[in-house]
Amino acid sequence: MQKNQEFEVTITDMGVDGEGIGKVDGFPFFIKDAVIGDVICAKALKVKKNYGYARLMEVITPSADRVTPRCPISRPCGGCQLQALSYEKQLEFKQNKVKNNLIRIGGFDPQEIVQKMEPIIGMEEPYFYRNKAQFPVGRDKNGRLVAGFYAGRTHTIIPVENCCLGVAVNEKIVKKVLAFLEEYHIEPYDETTHSGLVRHILIRYGFSSKEILVCLVLNGDTLPHAEKLVDSLCELPGMTSIQINSNKKRTNVILGETVQTLWGKESITDTIGGIEYQISALSFYQVNPMQTEKLYQKALEYADLTGNETVWDLYCGIGTISLFLAQKAKQVYGVEIVPQAIDDAKKNAARNHISNVEFFVGKAEEVVPDYVQQKGQFAAQQATPQDTEMRRPDVIVVDPPRKGCEETLLHTMLQMAPKRIVYVSCDSATLARDLKVLCADGYEVQRVCAVDQFGQTGHVETVCLLSRKTQ
Ligand code: SAH
Repeated sequence: MQKNQEFEVTITDMGVDGEGIGKVDGFPFFIKDAVIGDVICAKALKVKKNYGYARLMEVITPSADRVTPRCPISRPCGGCQLQALSYEKQLEFKQNKVKNNLIRIGGFDPQEIVQKMEPIIGMEEPYFYRNKAQFPVGRDKNGRLVAGFYAGRTHTIIPVENCCLGVAVNEKIVKKVLAFLEEYHIEPYDETTHSGLVRHILIRYGFSSKEILVCLVLNGDTLPHAEKLVDSLCELPGMTSIQINSNKKRTNVILGETVQTLWGKESITDTIGGIEYQISALSFYQVNPMQTEKLYQKALEYADLTGNETVWDLYCGIGTISLFLAQKAKQVYGVEIVPQAIDDAKKNAARNHISNVEFFVGKAEEVVPDYVQQKGQFAAQQATPQDTEMRRPDVIVVDPPRKGCEETLLHTMLQMAPKRIVYVSCDSATLARDLKVLCADGYEVQRVCAVDQFGQTGHVETVCLLSRKTQ
């Protein structure tokens, strides 16, 4: 097989990112947008020694699981990988992805994993669920001002104002911002020349509060004629906060470190499971609040609290899981790297009259080992009776970003020897890697539950309960 050669192939499997896999004389091709069960015509893009990549040219016989994508640009846009697959099959794919990672990367016994895995928790409405949107702003080939999404793996902006994973109001906001930029001749950012002002439009929406936050990310510190933008955005019901964020670096990271409020409050609120949260532009907040509630309920169920427990919540963000746990625990300690998120976490505890939580700013892999070994910021502190309980907690919950936990943190957790560890993960590959470390040294996987927080995409969230083996 050579580059650019066209061939017919049946899709018999799916890769970890949701791409189709089809074999030609035993040689596998990864083919984006092809659905398992399809017979397609493909064109070889890259042929390596043991596998290749091909492009879907035409669907000859569609799979029984193929559906029409709701979004007209689902193929070029990099955001969704599974829109052409029925939602039922998407869930099956995600359940298998978690299972296979635990077996292949974690080295667990297949039968044992099947027994311990609960059925995946799917979404009732797998579209329009995202409470956060980030639209890059730029100019297209014809010099037209556009906002949209980056085409998969590139930095070309595909104009789209109404992504069907997000809420309907996003489109109105984007139109208003673009009209404002046109009228006052404000240039969008151009990353090749590092010139122009407006980089991104960030929108956050509180599903329960109906409050909206709009933040313009600028390659600068001020927005000319800002009051005109404020007047225009304030016509939208629910507008609560209008902000600017300065990001003057040449970077792919969307947000800079400082935020100024142009109008309204500094944050919006949202409610999950009866707890009200304050969310500011810079804080991490789960993007799908309906599924997040189910995810946190599962984490709480696994933590199995009776009211006497000391619990750590590592990678706590704005304290969402911490406050859920605090309602059922004696004391909860949260650790998070972003200082603004910890400010939100403290305010969220006060707002909900929850006093049995304490929060620490810092890297989990530094704060927790330092605490246990009384080093760093904890070196000079007087020992309190509480310390023993903190060093020997009943439960540790972790919810790290995709890269998982640092090994030093895992070893400290082993040293702290909690009865239970609840691992919440957005990447089952790093989850499997970390479980292997914990299970090599006294822990056992009890339950695993996948929760679909990200319909139409290849991502899946997983909660896992580990318990310490009795010696
Ligand atoms: N549990 C929270 C947040 C989970 S996302 C929730 O459900 O909303 C992961 C969080 O870890 C983010 O808030 C991120 O800022 C934080 N983080 C990333 N690296 C970290 C580290 N090394 N130590 C502590 N927190 C970290």
